[in-house]
Amino acid sequence: SSSAYSDLRHCPYRFFALRQLQLQEDGELDAGLDKRDFGTWLHAVLQHFHEALQDAPTGDAAARTALMDEAAARATRELGLQEGDFLPYASGWPALRAGYLEWLGKHEAAGACFRQAELRARQPLGALELVGTLDRVDAVRPQGGGEPLALVIDYKTESDALTRGRIKAGSEDTQLAFYAALLQDDTLRAAYVNVGERGETRLHEQDDVVHLRDLLLDGITHDMQRIAAGAPLPALGEGSVCEWCAARGLCRKDFWNE
Ligand code: SF4
Repeated sequence: SSSAYSDLRHCPYRFFALRQLQLQEDGELDAGLDKRDFGTWLHAVLQHFHEALQDAPTGDAAARTALMDEAAARATRELGLQEGDFLPYASGWPALRAGYLEWLGKHEAAGACFRQAELRARQPLGALELVGTLDRVDAVRPQGGGEPLALVIDYKTESDALTRGRIKAGSEDTQLAFYAALLQDDTLRAAYVNVGERGETRLHEQDDVVHLRDLLLDGITHDMQRIAAGAPLPALGEGSVCEWCAARGLCRKDFWNE
């Protein structure tokens, strides 16, 4: 999966512990909705919203706002969240909703159309199989006309600067390239859509995604061949990579200096 390969890139030891040995973090009972839960919730909201809009298309702003609210209530119910869990985010909801709908209007006016949400996909790669779930796939009108192209979209709820950084990182950021590899399509496009809590939604497209996909597939093949041949998997993580790492107690990073 994209996240498993990202673990390998960030720290081979983490990949070994969490993916090859399949060690898991102790389940923690968190009170309330943390940032990660919020992302899960928002993904579900946007899926319900777009599927409902696809079934009963409307351009009416009030109707779209009502559909977003219905989608939010359904996602809250389905995830078993209480109203109180949502409290820290409730005040920002009207701005987020308005910002998203405004962006969507412009996106559609530019020729884009929602096709599918939460698309599960698999692709063979030699002896491996790449697996993943695409947040969303749109159809977009190519400049100059012709058959619509697929636009793979991955939602982000982080700061917009972080999302911009992912695009700038090129081949260092493997997520969009990985998702592109899950669809056999040499004409597809791929972008992050940053849904800002303060009311701004922005699309950040990776212009060179088909080339990055090819580089990624070569990289995965090479890395897996090395691991199969017995390459060591050292703990190379640094900085923010280690901050939230579930294997931190295992690699004993906090004791290295001692
Ligand atoms: S804490 Fe850092 S060095 Fe240790 S396994 Fe995790 S990412 Fe690797």
